[in-house]
Order: sequence, then C-alpha cells, then structure tokens
Amino acid sequence: MISSILPTYNRTSFAFTHGQGAWLYTEDGRRFLDFGAGIAVNALGHANPDLIQALTDQASKVWHLSNLYQIPEQKALADALVDQTFADTAFFTNSGTECCELVVKMVRKYWYEKGQPERVKIITFSGAFHGRSSAAIAAVNTEKMVKGFGPLLPGFIQLEFGDHEALQEAARDPEVAAIMIEPVQGEGGIRPVPDQCLKGLRDLCDETGALLVMDEVQCGVGRTGKLFAHEWAGIEPDVMMVAKGIGGGFPLGVVLATEDAASGMTAGTHGSTYGGNPLGCAVGKRVLDIVGDPAFLQDVSRKAGALRQSLEGLVAEYPDVFESVRGSGLMQGLKCVAPAGDVVAAGYDAEFLSVPAADNVVRLLPPLNISDDEITEAVARLHTAAAAVRAKATAQT
Ligand SMILES: *Cc1c(COP(=O)(O)O)cnc(C)c1O
Repeated sequence: MISSILPTYNRTSFAFTHGQGAWLYTEDGRRFLDFGAGIAVNALGHANPDLIQALTDQASKVWHLSNLYQIPEQKALADALVDQTFADTAFFTNSGTECCELVVKMVRKYWYEKGQPERVKIITFSGAFHGRSSAAIAAVNTEKMVKGFGPLLPGFIQLEFGDHEALQEAARDPEVAAIMIEPVQGEGGIRPVPDQCLKGLRDLCDETGALLVMDEVQCGVGRTGKLFAHEWAGIEPDVMMVAKGIGGGFPLGVVLATEDAASGMTAGTHGSTYGGNPLGCAVGKRVLDIVGDPAFLQDVSRKAGALRQSLEGLVAEYPDVFESVRGSGLMQGLKCVAPAGDVVAAGYDAEFLSVPAADNVVRLLPPLNISDDEITEAVARLHTAAAAVRAKATAQT
C-alpha cells in the first residue's frame, strides 16, 4: 500500500525532533552535526534566538495580509535588498521554483513590451537546477527531470557547462531573451562558474541585449562569503532568483530585478497569495541584517578557508574515497571515487549530515554561523565516514 506521504523522496529511517545551532536531535536521543542545513536553508542554524524573536514578534501582530494591502514588513525587506544589491525592485515568493516561474514570464514580457515578441528563448546549462515546476524542468530538460512529464514548455536552449563556443553561437540567435545561470551550481555537484566566465557572460549579454539572470537560490545569502556569489566576479545581473537561505528556514523567495528588466511586469501581470507575507518577511529581514554585515561575511570566508584546507587534507588521505574538493565559501563539494551515496550513508552512521549531489559529489552546506570547533568536529566525522567506506571496499575485494 502507498505511504500516506507521496513517495517522491527516499528518506532516512531516523527522524529529528528538534535542533539547536548546527545540531539536530533524533527521537532516540542521537545528536547529528548538520552540514546540510536543510540544503542551504538554515543559514543561521536551528532554533536561532534572533529568528525566533523576529518570527514570534510578528506572529503576535499579524500572520497574513493580502498583497491588496500595504505590507510594511515586505516593504522593509524589499528596501533592504534593493539597498544592498544591483536591484531596483523585488517580488516575493515562497520558494525558488516560484522565482523561476516569474523569471520566465518577466524576461519574455520584457521583450514583448520592447516590440520584439519573438525573443522568448532562455539559454540554460547542463547540470543546472532551477526547480521542479513545468517551466523549471523544461529549463533543465534532463531525462531524470522531464521523463513522462511532457509536453514540455518550449523556448529553452540547453548548453554544455563550460562550452564557450556553443554559447557564443547560441547567444547570437535573435530569439534569445535571456541567459540563466547559477554562479555556483548546487544540485549539479557544487560547480563554480569561474569569475572570468561570469564576466564573459555579462559582456555577451551587453552585446546581444539578452537579460542575464542569476539563480542564487542555493549559492546566495552569504553562502560563498559575499552576500551574493556573483559579486566575486565584479559583475551585476539584470535579474536574480533568491530563496533557501533568505528565510533561514521560513519559506521565502524573492526575484530581484533592475527597473529596466522588470519594466514589463505592471499591475495585474503576476501575483501570489502568500508571497511577501509578514511572517516570512520579518524573518527574512532579520536574516539579511545578520548575514549582510561585512564582519559576518568576512567570518564566513575565514571559516571557509579553514574548512577547505582540512578537506584538502582529507582528500589526500583517502584518494580511494575522494577525488577532489571544489566549491566556494561554505558551499563545498567532495567529488568522490567511491559512490557519493555510500559516503553520505557512512556519515549518517557517524552522526554527520551531508547531502549528495549530481556528478558523484557530497555537498557540505553548514549553517553560516558554524563555529571553528564544529568545523573541526565535522572533518573528524568525515574521516570516520571515509575510513568506514574504505574498510567496506577492502572487505569486498
Ligand atoms: C533549490 C533550488 C531551486 C528550487 O527552489 P525550491 O525552493 O525547492 O523551489 C532553484 N534553483 C536552485 C539553484 C536551487 O538550489
């Protein structure tokens, strides 16, 4: 008989009842060090007192207001985001997928209003992930994502990650409306796009007029040591998708755009019942206040350096388990020789949470306020996991 929960996820056998900082506690009293953070969502750890305060203060005032009315908490967060980024305007959603939906509409409407309605195509890259809606799966168009779900939304061009020639050619298609890219691929296996390439993309978009869309749903909000990952390349996108970390665990997403890129989205062209609700925005504002502090971001970079160095040592010690380490800031990936799933499972045995990604990679996405001691402890648990994977392989030969 089917489970009462639609079985679209392969879940662990254990369940967590509560968390504190970087730690999660099971029903049977085990304590896991959380280097998954709900897949880069719990940016400030579990049960963060500042976020509890922001949420409960707001909860005692008003939970929900329709976007028919002014929502002061939404305005405050939008103002702060506009203040701290390239953007002139923000639309709030409840998830990354919803951001993708709006982006597809926004870039098409942009060209429609500019009198070039034929410009509807969006260029995306292999290994990308933009969500699970009909538009988001069509954007990526891998068999895993789309098989059985056709007909697909047309208008996407998928290019090989890193194939510059193909990009130069495809971008000159006069029907291209936008290029959409994650500065650091998350689901694709923690693959950073080199700064040079992001600069090249900006130049290409300036040349052709195509809008440059950054999907920073996973790599944004301080994850790489800058508030947003594209800042490392010294460029600015026209549109950006943000979710995951911005809510610190409360469902919240936002599409940020320049005034020009957003110019087609006039009254009545888009909407959301819950997007920008007072609870989510009150929490999001607190997250941004904390993460946006330059001292906080500097500390992320410092800790990331220590983590990276320890991971290099781990890879050197277990070449039979790991091939390399890659990533940016507190978004690191261990490219595995052994099956990544085995490493993640051995981590569970050592009460350590990591997340598998494509390309046989184990993702490490700790809370951004992780302590130095917790990083040391994480690496110790990864050693334990790697030793277990090695022992299992040895026993089999
Ligand atoms: C998770 C993710 C999404 C989708 O976000 P949801 O909140 O799961 O809908 C989109 N893009 C990227 C890069 C992501 O990591």
